[in-house]
Amino acid sequence: MAIKVYNTLSRQIEDFVPMNGNDVKMFVCGQTVYDDAHIGHAKVYINFDVIASWLRKSGFNLKYVQNITDVEDKIIARAAESGTTPEELARHFEERFMEDMSALNVKRNVDAYMRSSDYIDPVRQQIQLLIDNGYAYVLDGDVYYDVARFADYTKLSGMKLDELVRHRIEPKEGKRNQYDFALWKASKPGEPSWSIKLIIGGKEREFSGRPGWHIEDTAMTYSVFGPQYDVHGGALELLFPHHSNEIAQAEAAFGKKPFVKYWMHVGVLTVNGVKMSKSLKNFIRIRDVLEEYDAEVLRLLFSMSHYRKEVDFTPDLLSSSKKQLNDMYSSLSVLSHAAESEESQGVVEKIVKEMSAGFGEAMDYDFNTPEAMSHLISGLNSIKKAIKDGTPITSAEKGAALSSILGMGSVIGIFSRESYKKGLSSEEKDLIAAREKLRKNGDYIQSDRMRDELENRYGISIEDTQYGTVWYHRDLI
Ligand SMILES: [Zn+2]
Repeated sequence: MAIKVYNTLSRQIEDFVPMNGNDVKMFVCGQTVYDDAHIGHAKVYINFDVIASWLRKSGFNLKYVQNITDVEDKIIARAAESGTTPEELARHFEERFMEDMSALNVKRNVDAYMRSSDYIDPVRQQIQLLIDNGYAYVLDGDVYYDVARFADYTKLSGMKLDELVRHRIEPKEGKRNQYDFALWKASKPGEPSWSIKLIIGGKEREFSGRPGWHIEDTAMTYSVFGPQYDVHGGALELLFPHHSNEIAQAEAAFGKKPFVKYWMHVGVLTVNGVKMSKSLKNFIRIRDVLEEYDAEVLRLLFSMSHYRKEVDFTPDLLSSSKKQLNDMYSSLSVLSHAAESEESQGVVEKIVKEMSAGFGEAMDYDFNTPEAMSHLISGLNSIKKAIKDGTPITSAEKGAALSSILGMGSVIGIFSRESYKKGLSSEEKDLIAAREKLRKNGDYIQSDRMRDELENRYGISIEDTQYGTVWYHRDLI
């Protein structure tokens, strides 16, 4: 089945057909490195990691890149506050960002993280093209984009031009329109600065300053992808003005439409119903969550809702995701330790086949991870139940089932821990055998006492079936 995707540009579900055969070029707006990354960032990068995994698993030849914004107003302001240089501050937080991304295992699909400071010359070239094509003008030492010249400016956001004025944050005396945005900003003393030469009205002029935020991304993507590419992703709050400005820059500079075929936006994350902010003290860093929870818990949490949906983050959500993940690991443990028989009726094989088909169908339809997870969860429950019911399973059937389930888990980024493989010590085996004997002899008081002991002292959960005892380690994650 072909993949379908919701395109913000058309506001519709569309068939996913890349521009060039099987090749998919994908760019996701990355981090501005002026502080530690928070769980809202984790949602964006985990959602796109799952999307990238599914595209690759579906056979597409994906090239996935992200930017690192290391030149920007927030970095300059924070560096001044903390008495360091913008460059030092940016490198420090970039390093910590990379640690967080490794911990979340989202670097696995990203082919390159590109720093904006490495793309100053492509920025210059693009500004020159915009000047030559009549879309940019000089104001003092700055260069601005002339929004009124670009007819499709509101196409992505669906806003009216007069609404845009309310969103503008770049006040400057002498701009042609309030919503015009900076392509190049003159630097004040002490700020990071590059010198570029632009030809204005046939004359070469030198501009000392730094790129505007929006042009960093289009300069980069032109360098790696050319004037057009397949997927641009990011958080929903970047839709306007950032992504609208990217379209305006690229289409006006290179004269090719569409700049990007599919625009994909990730729903906002709130904490206990409110937007995260430092002043509200509800700013939750990725590294704080990971001190207490395994990264797979966060990955599961963000896959239990659709990437386009808003997620309201609460402590309960973390603990219920942990419990859910642990339950799934316990099913994996029961499956991997199930007694093998010479023959079977293929019951487990059939469950896995249905689970895998349901998972794939859900992922194909706009990367519907909650639906895909419901197939994975109910399939694992059915397998656990089948084994408890004494359903025979052959060694080959077990191997195939495990490999298929781990494959689905890998798309979501779970089941990489090997805890489910852990067996029993000889002491634990003896205790379980002794308890089974007590049960057979009808000594339920003693056998219940031993079950509690196994649970509390050894962390082993026991479930009795008419075919014997099924056990698994209680805390697998
Ligand atoms: Zn961006």
